[in-house]
Amino acid sequence: MAQTKNYYKILGVEKNASFADIKKRYRELAKKHHPDVNNGSKKAENNFKILSAAYNVLSDKKSRREYDQSFRQQTRPRGPGSGTWSDPSSDFDFSGRQKTGQQGDFRQATPEEEQKFDPEFPTRGFDLQFMIDLPLVTVALGGTIPYSYEKYVQCPDCEGTGFMDSEECSVCKGKRLVVESVTIEIKIPPGIGNLYTLRIPNAGGEGRNGGPPGDLLLRISAEKHPRFKRLKNDIYAEIPISPELAEKGGSLEIETLDSVQTIEVEEGTLTGEELRIPGQGAAILWGKKRGDFILKFKIQDD
Ligand SMILES: [Zn+2]
Repeated sequence: MAQTKNYYKILGVEKNASFADIKKRYRELAKKHHPDVNNGSKKAENNFKILSAAYNVLSDKKSRREYDQSFRQQTRPRGPGSGTWSDPSSDFDFSGRQKTGQQGDFRQATPEEEQKFDPEFPTRGFDLQFMIDLPLVTVALGGTIPYSYEKYVQCPDCEGTGFMDSEECSVCKGKRLVVESVTIEIKIPPGIGNLYTLRIPNAGGEGRNGGPPGDLLLRISAEKHPRFKRLKNDIYAEIPISPELAEKGGSLEIETLDSVQTIEVEEGTLTGEELRIPGQGAAILWGKKRGDFILKFKIQDD
């Protein structure tokens, strides 16, 4: 069971504080935060609940020892970038379902924790959804891009407790989470469709109280390319040629998505005639195969 709350910080005592000190400190704080002296405010009630939970654990020799041990063993929840991206079946989830085995350190709730609106209950972080514009070539062939966004993370100052030396944390204002800018590497699968939603597990907002993080959902939008048009797995390009080349024929260098090729223009070529270069189009999703690159000749005016 992973403990995520620093009870010592909540009470504002040292790790090696004596039982007498802890008791004294708790009495001071309980007086201040008791709902009865705060006009029964919901916030005071929550604060009091948190303080009491901390005191209950730290005032008992056995539970304090267990707490100290579990706190040391605590591992941080998995963040983005912790997975590998090489296996499409595990790294990209297009189904929109939460995958199993991604629950991180989510601990089993005891029956008394399993009540509604418990501020201490582990909750999953938010899913974040953004639209992302990508160059046509990246969408057609895949690639890795850096992506920056903002998300909620556990407040580093109070370690997500909302308390700092028994006062409300001044950094997160007791909210336990703060907004942070993050940049992660996103692997765009080759041949992805326009308006596809890419799900990056665990890259969303951090969970509260040890709950698992949410996911990041990116809706892919392919930017218009000045020369190329994509139709499923094929790429179309209009190639301007001089009337002389069209009439007499000859070789011509053209650019595809990712290469430069020399083609032969046939003698007597007309505007609208096509030339197909196999395997130089967009990738077929997840596969190594590619569609075709199709040239449409256009004879320029003199
Ligand atoms: Zn804080």
